[in-house]
Amino acid sequence: MNIEQNYIYIGIALIVIVFILKAILGRKKPPTEDFVCARCKSKEKYTNRTIEAWRRGFKKIYCQSCHHLWLKNNPHHKKQQYHTSGGGCLSVLVLFALISVLTYGVIKYVS
Ligand SMILES: [Zn+2]
Repeated sequence: MNIEQNYIYIGIALIVIVFILKAILGRKKPPTEDFVCARCKSKEKYTNRTIEAWRRGFKKIYCQSCHHLWLKNNPHHKKQQYHTSGGGCLSVLVLFALISVLTYGVIKYVS
């Protein structure tokens, strides 16, 4: 077993740990149950979409009707919207792949 290879496994392990921590800590929720729409100023309850926007640090959060209006005016952003909805599933796959690699590394490291 050469030392260089060990560093690769330690590196992979660190990446996985950071990824898991980010996944856990990144699931935080907004401090209040509702928000004020940045456009029509109406008080709205947070939805999965607005919570996601809040997590990404967006200062302007829109209610459902204003969001649809915005999408109508910015049709090229629609594609991105679909992309984010599948993001959760994709990150699970990436996590699974990383764990597989890590497990493989540990088995090789131990043997
Ligand atoms: Zn609104």
